[in-house]
Amino acid sequence: MAKQVSGKYWVTWADTHAKNSTSIDDLDADFKRKLKEFIQALEAGGATVKVEATKRSDKRAYLFHWCWKIALGKAKPSEATTKGGVDIQWDHGDAAKSKAGAQEMVSGFGLAVPPKSTVAPSLNSNHIAGKAVDMEITWAGTKKFKNKQGKEVEIPYMSNPNMNTKLHELGATYGVKKLKTDRPHWSHNGT
Ligand SMILES: [Zn+2]
Repeated sequence: MAKQVSGKYWVTWADTHAKNSTSIDDLDADFKRKLKEFIQALEAGGATVKVEATKRSDKRAYLFHWCWKIALGKAKPSEATTKGGVDIQWDHGDAAKSKAGAQEMVSGFGLAVPPKSTVAPSLNSNHIAGKAVDMEITWAGTKKFKNKQGKEVEIPYMSNPNMNTKLHELGATYGVKKLKTDRPHWSHNGT
């Protein structure tokens, strides 16, 4: 079977064959329990939590990783590994076209690029194991939230969640840890 070159096609393909879940119920049981408690505490304190991604398929992770690297010029198309069941051709036989094809996928998947995220989506992401979540947490001003020990902590809203160490500390009491280089990303171990 002929391989299909990188581009928008693969965004559509992945939406059928390599679906991401946005449901907390698809997560690893232990992490799910911890995350539910954290979200409950956030909502009880007056925050709005929007879960954007939970469990990711390994095929989707493969596409995320290499399109990001190739589009940003961090890898040549020839450096991309292969993945069973994903007949993608990263090399269009022309450097600019290869980059453009990968960029179509970065845009189509809505991947975070610098300065929002300076690391390529991982091939071994905690999302694949169901131990990570991407979520937006918002509130107005400063609010009080209960940590796992039941103690109330005052936390100001910050538009850049990567800077909000008090919020990170709150999550950690529930076993939900922030990756500070990836805006919406929290996991069981902070990676
Ligand atoms: Zn994530």
